[in-house]
Amino acid sequence: MQHIIDRFISYVTIDTESDPNSTTTPSTAKQWNLANKLAEELKQIGLTDVSIDDKSYVMGTLPSNVKHDVPTIGFVSHFDTTPDFTGANVKPQIVKNYDGNDIILNKEKNIILSPSYFKDLLLYKGQTLITTDGTTLLGADDKAGITEIMTAMEYLVQHPEIKHGAIKVCFTPDEEIGRGADHFDVEKFGADWAYTMDGSQIGELEYENFNAAGVKITFKGKSVHPGYAKGKMINSMLLANKFISKLPKDETPETTRGYEGFYHVTGISGSIEDTKVELIIRDHNRKKFNARKKYVEEVIAKFNKKYKKQFGEDIAILEIKDQYYNMREKIEPVMHIVKIAEQAMLDLGIKPLIKPIRGGTDGSRLSFMGLPCPNIFAGGHNFHGKYEYVPVESMQKAIDVIIRIAELTALK
Ligand SMILES: [Zn+2]
Repeated sequence: MQHIIDRFISYVTIDTESDPNSTTTPSTAKQWNLANKLAEELKQIGLTDVSIDDKSYVMGTLPSNVKHDVPTIGFVSHFDTTPDFTGANVKPQIVKNYDGNDIILNKEKNIILSPSYFKDLLLYKGQTLITTDGTTLLGADDKAGITEIMTAMEYLVQHPEIKHGAIKVCFTPDEEIGRGADHFDVEKFGADWAYTMDGSQIGELEYENFNAAGVKITFKGKSVHPGYAKGKMINSMLLANKFISKLPKDETPETTRGYEGFYHVTGISGSIEDTKVELIIRDHNRKKFNARKKYVEEVIAKFNKKYKKQFGEDIAILEIKDQYYNMREKIEPVMHIVKIAEQAMLDLGIKPLIKPIRGGTDGSRLSFMGLPCPNIFAGGHNFHGKYEYVPVESMQKAIDVIIRIAELTALK
């Protein structure tokens, strides 16, 4: 266990925050610090073909140790942390034999990690937790995943009696800003399928995510002196307001869960002659997803029809851009890759928690790039903030799952 803790701490104490406003890859130069270290470590533990490309993607291979043909599988994690909360000067705290009470993260600032608010903590009574000191995030998302993949590969190198096919690993930059798959060379990676080790609670196994689109609407208007505006002025802000009122009230993020999709207004800015509304559309079901986009199109078409005479041209300009799709489409034809992960968990006494992701993952992008890629738990909780923590036992279980998947894949 100490080995896992030491490795994890060596990663989280390197600041790798990504930056959505940057145009480079990686988005922040400091991500190289961890990327280079990971490449070195892969070499040290004995992987072959270790490479780090000009975009900081780190890859390596654990060669097969069996004679028969075995599918090549891969494991993927990201080394950046979210820009939502600082990841500089992370000072991990170790809580041994957790007693189920409040954990004081920071006495001075009175920051407490409490099971009365974060009930999941009670799942880990008696275990060893790694927490923050209350001033930064932890970075278990996704340095727990990297720790697990690295440690599992090391274990397999040291235990050649465990039979497995070729295993590929890849560590990526910039997942947190939605670009982790952008420069992923699927062909070079050369796996038949892969798993991202980027889920949360022990047992999580995910192969469904949202279909996603981003919508931008520009409403135009006509400014006239307000004292003499009757029948002449068109106020684009009021048009935008009318549009938003036509979106179903009970189909928003705050009124939905599970497989329920939504419209979510994410931004609005305006003046009399120009108002921009931004929203996102999300739905697991492709048909319902398309119907939502169509509904927005129809509402906007009605606006344009209504104001055609008075305004002379289209009063609302609509742009809809698909962002990502539900990976289920790509996973269903190869369901055995989910079954293997499920079996691995069952063999280890872990209860699989299979549920749809209400978001996207790099795995969904990779799945559509030709690398089917379900997501497996990495063990952490409360990602993207100061209450983030990870039980070491969950990391150990994730390592065991990786090893067991390798074994199961190589069975004749
Ligand atoms: Zn992550």
